[in-house]
Amino acid sequence: MNAVASPHKVRRSWKSRLLRLIPFGIGSRKPKHFRDMFGILWRNRDNLPYAYKIITRGVCDGCALGVAGLYDWTIKGPHLCMTRLNLLRLNTVSALDHSLLSDVAALEKMDNVQLRELGRLAHPMLREKGAAGFHRITWEEAYARIAEKIRASDPRRIAFFVTARGVTNEVYYMSQKAARFLGTNNIDNAARICHSPSTAAMKRALGVAASTCSYKDWYGTDLLIFFGSNPANDQPVSTKYLHEAKALGTKVVMVNPYREPGMDRYWVPSTATSAVFGTDIMDYWFPVTQGGDIPFLYGVLKILFAEDWLNHDFIVQHTSGVDSLRAACEAMDWEILERRAGLNRAAMLEFAELIRDAKNAVLIWSMGVTQHAFGADGVQMILNLGLLRGYVGRDMNGLMPIRGHSSVQGGGEMGCYATVFPGLKPVNAGNAAALSAQYGFTVPDWIGLTTMEMIDAAERGELDLLYCLGGNFLRNLPEPEHIRGCLANVPLRVHQDIILTDQMMIPAQEAVLLLPAKTRYEQDDGGHETSTERRVMFSPELPRQVGEARAEWKIMRELAAATYPGRSHLLGCETGWEMRNEIARVIPFYEGVQHLKKTGDAFQYGGPHLCADGHFATADGRALITAVALPDHERPAGQFKASTRRGKQFNSLLYAQIDPLNGASREAVLMSREDATALGLAHGDAIEIYNDLGALAGTVFLAEIAPGNLQVHWPEGNVIIRRGVVDAGGGVPDYNAFVRVRRC
Ligand code: SF4
Repeated sequence: MNAVASPHKVRRSWKSRLLRLIPFGIGSRKPKHFRDMFGILWRNRDNLPYAYKIITRGVCDGCALGVAGLYDWTIKGPHLCMTRLNLLRLNTVSALDHSLLSDVAALEKMDNVQLRELGRLAHPMLREKGAAGFHRITWEEAYARIAEKIRASDPRRIAFFVTARGVTNEVYYMSQKAARFLGTNNIDNAARICHSPSTAAMKRALGVAASTCSYKDWYGTDLLIFFGSNPANDQPVSTKYLHEAKALGTKVVMVNPYREPGMDRYWVPSTATSAVFGTDIMDYWFPVTQGGDIPFLYGVLKILFAEDWLNHDFIVQHTSGVDSLRAACEAMDWEILERRAGLNRAAMLEFAELIRDAKNAVLIWSMGVTQHAFGADGVQMILNLGLLRGYVGRDMNGLMPIRGHSSVQGGGEMGCYATVFPGLKPVNAGNAAALSAQYGFTVPDWIGLTTMEMIDAAERGELDLLYCLGGNFLRNLPEPEHIRGCLANVPLRVHQDIILTDQMMIPAQEAVLLLPAKTRYEQDDGGHETSTERRVMFSPELPRQVGEARAEWKIMRELAAATYPGRSHLLGCETGWEMRNEIARVIPFYEGVQHLKKTGDAFQYGGPHLCADGHFATADGRALITAVALPDHERPAGQFKASTRRGKQFNSLLYAQIDPLNGASREAVLMSREDATALGLAHGDAIEIYNDLGALAGTVFLAEIAPGNLQVHWPEGNVIIRRGVVDAGGGVPDYNAFVRVRRC
């Protein structure tokens, strides 16, 4: 088989090549980094010295790329981006006037941006059922109220959720320890709704659940392939790594329904040539249909098998299961694969030829792959590709799930997960007994409720207490009005947070409690987080006291101690330093964390490569190649596949109405020109996309997106996303839907 051309090689028009000669991207759509930086300075003008300390000494609380102060472990120059700067205000703002909470009627009219701008939550607040609002209480009263409920409840009827909003591994660790001290495994974290399929698939296939490589491996590799991932938005400084990798000859391939403008061309502000003239990033674009990655990869693998473009030595020495995958590929029907992938056989061949010619490659994926009902299967197919070619365990190669939020990598590793104990040990009787022996109290041995299961339990009236450490279920989960009812159906709800969110205004059956938390920078004794590349980094305490806010891990510890004071000594970890000593004992691959003391102190657990030289952490030391089911995700006639995307935001915190990378407003509905023409629509036309769940008003935004696909912003798009559809492997919701379009 030979492809006659490279139709998916990115060819830039003469106009875009001409624009490239114009300095600073004048006339092009691009982020206005320098203008925005001045805006940030102005917004933080009342606390600039503290902002400076955070930037120069703290570990960034933005994404999971990871930087301490202004320097990372990949590039020589400074490392800073607008995501980090936008988050600064959360860390410098002063306390809100707590009397505003005395009547929530006005607050209920505010959106989350307005609520955030009121300032920091500074005192414990209580709202009894039927009350117009919250009144201030003491910490002791708050603990007593929650403790009373916990003592009166079956531990299976209490549940804890921990956000990824900048919390440190200390918070994850103590939260899970406190929950288990209280007798429950109903403790989950935000990774459940993003990369849980990656954790499930990687653990099963490779025996590890983290990136096998380092960012350094991007440099000089033949191919960097991004599946359903847009690092220009999610990990902005990674564009600087891409700029440098491309200078070494690396080719960047996107398998994505949308030709993401930030990955097409980016202006890296701290690299002079790029800041002035920009960098062309993407070399190849394969516009797979949303949810079409598995059939696309089946087509590619079918060709690799047929043409024998495999790494036989690696397969024979280090893997098992190849024959069943080969048989599955051979049985696949081309016509079905093409239809479900949204790409034809020639495109699959073109991709396969890139693979054939690449001795080295790093395969990277993100939520475009994981957030489906078949998310773990999608990840497995990427792993299959990497294993057939031996793209793992050596320099310039790797299998890399890009993590979005800072330290979300560490959440599961600390055991803050319904299905695993510290060290990612599965919840079972043997591991519970071993952990009980280490802790000195009985750790429950039953699988806990995952995030979505907590909400379902709340709906059925099976929760007495829902404790949310950050997060905002009302905005993050599908079918928000349903979520509202579930949250209201819990007797006691606790929201431990640094700012107000609209879910806090939902009444509960008995009471709602708000507990003011310190930020990661204010946290007593500092803290550490784990980056995408498994780098464990220390962020020192930068003392600041806002109202009565307390360190997040201390609140969890104090609550557990107040519930069962007679055995509170078993909690240990009275200081952050003691806790890190314990983490190093309980989670052996975190050995060394106890020695981290200052900015820049860090280590990469497992070294630069996991699965080095093909030695996998599975029972037989081999990686498991597996055939997965081919999802039937075909679009019914007259309907579109709608997917949710992020704009200028961090988690559900919005920072701008317009996405600087593509110019889309929050109500934009990304649509191909072909589809718009067929519907008689033009750019800017008012439309509604709808299904049996609801309707979302928007405007047509013409985009280079695979026909038949639409994209809308998240969380606004949650009104058309069906609840209860989750990935069997990890529990992540499927954030996609079939919809129809009508003109307004
Ligand atoms: S790329 Fe990520 S880690 Fe780096 S400064 Fe931006 S948000 Fe922080």
